[in-house]
Amino acid sequence: MRRAAPSVRAYRLLGTGRAEVVDVPRPEPGPGESLLRVLAAGVCRTDLALLHGGSNGLGLPVTLGHEIVGEVVSLGAGASGPERGSLVAVYELLGCGRCRACSGGRDNVCREVTPGAVGITRDGGMADHVVVPARNLVALGDVDPVHAAPLTDAGMTALHAVERGRPLLELGATAVVVGIGGLGHLAVQFLRATSDARVIAVDVDRAHLDFAVEIGADDGVLSGPNAAADILGANGGGNVDVVFDFVGAQQTLDLAAEVTGRGGAIVVTGGGGGRLSIEARMGAGGAPDREVAMVHTFGGTRDDLVRALALAEDGRVRTHVDAHDLASAGRVLAELDAGKVLGRAVLVP
Ligand SMILES: [Zn+2]
Ligand SMILES: [Zn+2]
Repeated sequence: MRRAAPSVRAYRLLGTGRAEVVDVPRPEPGPGESLLRVLAAGVCRTDLALLHGGSNGLGLPVTLGHEIVGEVVSLGAGASGPERGSLVAVYELLGCGRCRACSGGRDNVCREVTPGAVGITRDGGMADHVVVPARNLVALGDVDPVHAAPLTDAGMTALHAVERGRPLLELGATAVVVGIGGLGHLAVQFLRATSDARVIAVDVDRAHLDFAVEIGADDGVLSGPNAAADILGANGGGNVDVVFDFVGAQQTLDLAAEVTGRGGAIVVTGGGGGRLSIEARMGAGGAPDREVAMVHTFGGTRDDLVRALALAEDGRVRTHVDAHDLASAGRVLAELDAGKVLGRAVLVP
């Protein structure tokens, strides 16, 4: 007689606005996969978007959680990767796994398939256990699992954005970080730790601005009709060099276009539904001005994740986290929705 698989808890998205912690059979690793005991799973705005948007055409139900740190419990057939007992972080993106981009750990730019993600297009880490492709595991190093979990998405993605703007962050440059949430609070720290740029934070909430200054921003500017003038004022009257927009709403993209100087860059990571456009005309002086580079980022590379973890291990970047029991997933998402989370909330099974 076959023994029933032990059951584990998982926070499952069931339909639009419907998600709950349920018992499911413990997953088994297939060929090339590893089974992890989850140690921590970060809670992201993408989880909120999935909850509000329901399936988004994805297969349901699905276990949420794409910011995962765990311990390897077992490996499937032919899986090569960290051994049983290793502490690992999960590189969340899933390209084809075979093309030149994926072979170099850049699944975010795979052209063979639309990249999926653990916790979005397959079961994720808001659970006691999760199965992931062994190739997506990265050694955790000496970082606390709860602090490390948000580095696998928020950290990797924010660092990737910083790297795309880095060529323009010369000595004396000013960077603006729009949106001091999970990603923005890490972007401020990555800029502080890895560049000489002066950093101006922008947010709708004064408490988030105070927080940004606490963790390394030079100035904070409240979002709103005076934001552009306030940014220029905080920059001695001049235009800024690079705007990192972690909101991506029309208002923030318009703001970026207005304050970025010639030769600068606008790096958009937020998915707020705005549109940034070029008006092609002779001469300079439009908004954005000519010679402004515009980059729309998607996630990050495996290397970005490795470096984000290394910066945390060296104590140069520290995720601001609040840990909650997995059973509180629904309440934590409601708090995130209400703008009450400072830094990142993390679920611990
Ligand atoms: Zn995310
Ligand atoms: Zn690929």
